[in-house]
Amino acid sequence: MKTIKKAGIGFLILGLTYLGIMFFPTILFAHKIEYKQCTVYSDRNIDAEIYGIIDSALVRMSTSELYDTTQHFRLFLCNDLWRFGFFTQGSTLADAVAQYDLTRNIFFRPCDIPNHKIIPPNEWYFAKNPFSFNDRPLWYYFAHEMTHVMQSRYTGRGSWNYPTWLTEGYADYIGKGGNFNFRENLALWHDRAPELDPSKGLYRLYHLKVYYLMQTKGYNIQAIYQNIPDDAALTAELWNLPVPENEDLK
Ligand SMILES: [Zn+2]
Repeated sequence: MKTIKKAGIGFLILGLTYLGIMFFPTILFAHKIEYKQCTVYSDRNIDAEIYGIIDSALVRMSTSELYDTTQHFRLFLCNDLWRFGFFTQGSTLADAVAQYDLTRNIFFRPCDIPNHKIIPPNEWYFAKNPFSFNDRPLWYYFAHEMTHVMQSRYTGRGSWNYPTWLTEGYADYIGKGGNFNFRENLALWHDRAPELDPSKGLYRLYHLKVYYLMQTKGYNIQAIYQNIPDDAALTAELWNLPVPENEDLK
């Protein structure tokens, strides 16, 4: 009985320690820069290219109706994979994780800052495919994850109340900053291309849905959140759109 009690206390202390580090992660990051609305922490020296990457991300975010210049963001660059796994409960294959239901801190997997790239694991379906990387430089990941934090500030914590297509589709819509060809992606979807299959790790189908609602139907993001379309109906509506022959719908 005593052993069980001791083990219980041991687990409790471990759990509280883990939670404490989750709320105060800076103790595991020795380097830091502050720039505009971002504080970037890292476990290594931070290359000066970071300033341009933040600038590029903020330009995209400033196009969002959820953005304002008083918002602050905390980004943590994990060059050590174990550190990334520690803060993401073992999700070492993820690109980045925004804890938007808890601390609103954002953790990134190992990055190549001088070359503005995330370093993908070999396990990614598109790890070696330049088509899926050219439109995802490091500023895209920064803007995508910071958009999740803006979504969480707008809706309140509780991301489980919102469909994945909206959460991820809007983060990509902002994160890619207009670098998205509606016609091309609609055609790829009709061709059942893996790029439009979210289970392969890309959000192009979700982006297509949000793009359609905002650009074609003219809703703003607040209107979408107030009256979230049914996914099946939206998918059918989008699927039945004629694929435009020209670039008019770009
Ligand atoms: Zn995301």
